[in-house]
Amino acid sequence: MSEARLESVTPEAAPAFPPGIAYMNGRFMPMEDAKISVLDWGFLRSDATYDVVHVWKGRFFRLDKHLDRFIRSVEKIRLALPVSREELTRILAECVERSGHEDAYVEMIVTRGVSPTFSRDPRDAVNKLICFAIPFGWILRPEEREDGLHIAISDITRIPPHSVDPTVKNYHWLDLVMGMYEAYERGARTALLKDDEGHVTEGPGFNIFAVKEGKVTTPDRGVLEGITRQTAIDLCGELGFPLSEEPVSADALRMADEVFATSTAGGIMPVTTLDGQPVASGKAGPVTRQLIDLYWKKHDEPGWSVSVEEVLRQAV
Ligand code: PLP
Repeated sequence: MSEARLESVTPEAAPAFPPGIAYMNGRFMPMEDAKISVLDWGFLRSDATYDVVHVWKGRFFRLDKHLDRFIRSVEKIRLALPVSREELTRILAECVERSGHEDAYVEMIVTRGVSPTFSRDPRDAVNKLICFAIPFGWILRPEEREDGLHIAISDITRIPPHSVDPTVKNYHWLDLVMGMYEAYERGARTALLKDDEGHVTEGPGFNIFAVKEGKVTTPDRGVLEGITRQTAIDLCGELGFPLSEEPVSADALRMADEVFATSTAGGIMPVTTLDGQPVASGKAGPVTRQLIDLYWKKHDEPGWSVSVEEVLRQAV
């Protein structure tokens, strides 16, 4: 490493933390004070599960669904949530309230934790809960929606579901991150990975959908059961679009009339090119546009969203 390069990693040059509030070790703290031990299995082995819910204009969107998935994930990988569901709900709301963010990205994590003797037995580790609220982050900002997502279909195979269960939201992201670098080299913005049978799976932080002749399809296996994916499925039902969860080949995606991606970090996002080739006309299609409109409308509706204030009121 050259000297200039070394200089550039001095603490002064380190990026600032996004403003926010975290909760760990039983107390709330500014984001920059939320630190874990390097001996935490979460850090050393990616041994953790997490979930991300967003708050939009002071309201959590589909909070119960995120909590259900998180608690299921914790149980599936033999962790224990150190607080009750009700306490967790209050902690998340309090992180948001204390942060002052109206639009927030709210993460909850349980790591395997540290084992006091550094034993190699995961049962000796003390599981750790970490929550935080920082400003809302976008995969695709609203002003970029017209341009849409440019995706490269990666040559890297997604970790198979019989190795790491993708329905447990996890930090096994090296395949996805390497896919992103590959995508940048190919002039795309992000990547989509296939399984070992050549079906498309998911990308870094999003699920994928195709629309062909009015019918909507999304991969039925090898993916995180995204809450936004489920929301898109629910909204297709409301709008009367036929939908099927089934294997989707890369070719089917390339031949689609519309392609869109779904994520808590950005909602429903038009995909306008695949491997540099336009999807149909290369513009967001009518099905995608209707879904995006309805998705954001639901953010004010009770039943789909709940205000942070209301959550805190119910907690006392
Ligand atoms: N797939 C992966 C691998 C993810 O990490 C995520 C979200 O981070 C998603 C899909 C989308 O899930 P959700 O809609 O719940 O944000």
